[in-house]
Amino acid sequence: MKVVVLLGPPGSGKGTVAERLRGDRGGYVHFATGDMLREEVAHGTEVGREAEDYMKRGELVPDEVIIRIVEKRLETGDQEAAYLFDGFPRTLAQADLLDESLAGRGSKIDFVFFLATPREVILQRLTGRRVCKDCGASFHVINIPPKVEGVCDACGGELYQRKDDNEETIANRLDVYNRQTESLISRYEEKGLLVSLDSDQGVDSLMAEIEAKLQSASA
Ligand code: AMP
Repeated sequence: MKVVVLLGPPGSGKGTVAERLRGDRGGYVHFATGDMLREEVAHGTEVGREAEDYMKRGELVPDEVIIRIVEKRLETGDQEAAYLFDGFPRTLAQADLLDESLAGRGSKIDFVFFLATPREVILQRLTGRRVCKDCGASFHVINIPPKVEGVCDACGGELYQRKDDNEETIANRLDVYNRQTESLISRYEEKGLLVSLDSDQGVDSLMAEIEAKLQSASA
């Protein structure tokens, strides 16, 4: 089982990289806690009700809630699959959980791709982001406009702006990232797992760097 963690601030392109990797390589399970939580909220589940207010404020959902959904999903997951973790872990406690959970399956993290992104790029990306209600594909009003305004190119679904993609909540999400998630960079660096990448170099050359790393490991 190959395990890749995508680490970076909101708007660093973790979701885009995950989609591209899945398209280019196939076989990856995309494990995005943000998407999983939005689904729980949309379905009005107990986890969704617990998570909703934190998400609206741009704060982290408590570790015990995250741990519940992650365990559930890993239990039902394919043991042979390659995993792409996107937006998880976000705290040291979550990183410990992931290590333990993988160890219990005889596995471990292979790479942590850190997507370094300047603050002004993050703000521009997030304020213009639009997401498909049906398939989750991501667009941008200027950088990646859909062919027809408000309509998903991939499936024809309606595009919407995430509730937490407003300037005030974005500022809070970046503070939360600096306070709670950034410390994971040094943790993974010490373990020799971190690969730092410039997320503002254009998606094709970013993917070429990632692909080269993945291939060096399987060579
Ligand atoms: P994202 O889609 O990754 O930007 O996540 C959206 C929101 O979901 C975050 O601002 C948090 O409120 C919550 N969230 C997602 N993943 C996690 C996580 N691993 N730990 C805590 N909260 C999370």
